[in-house]
Amino acid sequence: MFDLVRPTRVLANRALGPDSFVLTMERRFPSFQAGQHIDVGLPGAETRTYSLYSGEGDPHLEILVRRVRGGTVSSQLAVLAAGDQVRVDRPRGKFTLRQALPGEKLLFVATGTGIAPFRSFLRSRPDLDATLVHGVRDPEDDYGAEFAPSRVLCVSGPQLSGGAFAGRVTAWLEEADLGAFSRAYLCGNARMIFEVFPLLVDRGMEEHRVHTETYF
Ligand SMILES: Cc1cc2nc3c(=O)[nH]c(=O)nc-3n(C[C@H](O)[C@H](O)[C@H](O)COP(=O)(O)OP(=O)(O)OC[C@H]3O[C@@H](n4cnc5c(N)ncnc54)[C@H](O)[C@@H]3O)c2cc1C
Repeated sequence: MFDLVRPTRVLANRALGPDSFVLTMERRFPSFQAGQHIDVGLPGAETRTYSLYSGEGDPHLEILVRRVRGGTVSSQLAVLAAGDQVRVDRPRGKFTLRQALPGEKLLFVATGTGIAPFRSFLRSRPDLDATLVHGVRDPEDDYGAEFAPSRVLCVSGPQLSGGAFAGRVTAWLEEADLGAFSRAYLCGNARMIFEVFPLLVDRGMEEHRVHTETYF
């Protein structure tokens, strides 16, 4: 039984970049589906929604948070340390893995912290044959997405890092051969999703095979 009243203990707060961090918390509900999200905040204060970054079988809960300048809750979470307490609401959401047939190739497209559900997918199902296309503005927002065996980093800002594609995920997708992918999952900001969804449909992917989660 999930107890909403008792606060959840923070176990660690690990920086992943200048503005991003992974918050590790006790896991007090037995099950969730990779791709779902939870509402998190200080006890008695406002909460915000965060995708689960940890896998279904992991002993603790993890979320990947970007500290938004002037943002209420992300700023409060950024300064938490082991032993502090947070409120965590039950997992919900439908951005979950559809049944993948053996040999099916999946396309994961994320901007910024939108990689979080894809890490949860791959930790829960390491057998998935997926390519992650990750769009960031600066190379420092890479968030170490090496959990994905096949990935493309797209850097849209002026600073580049070795091996990265110079441009937005849309530009990479426009040039790529997408014929092998049978299903796509898109997660991140609304602009990316509004551009990538029709791009994939124009390139022959059926609408019901494109799944989306919009952060803001
Ligand atoms: C389904 C879902 C899953 C999400 N998962 C994650 C996640 O895994 N990791 C994560 O970091 N965030 C995630 N978010 C975003 C998160 O819920 C908050 O919106 C974000 O942390 C900002 O909250 P805040 O209280 O700090 O800012 P607020 O006080 O709510 O906003 C302050 C200002 O910042 C702007 N703003 C809000 N969010 C952003 C943003 N992301 N980037 C730039 N400007 C912004 C607002 O428009 C406002 O002007 C998710 C949102 C949804 C809907």
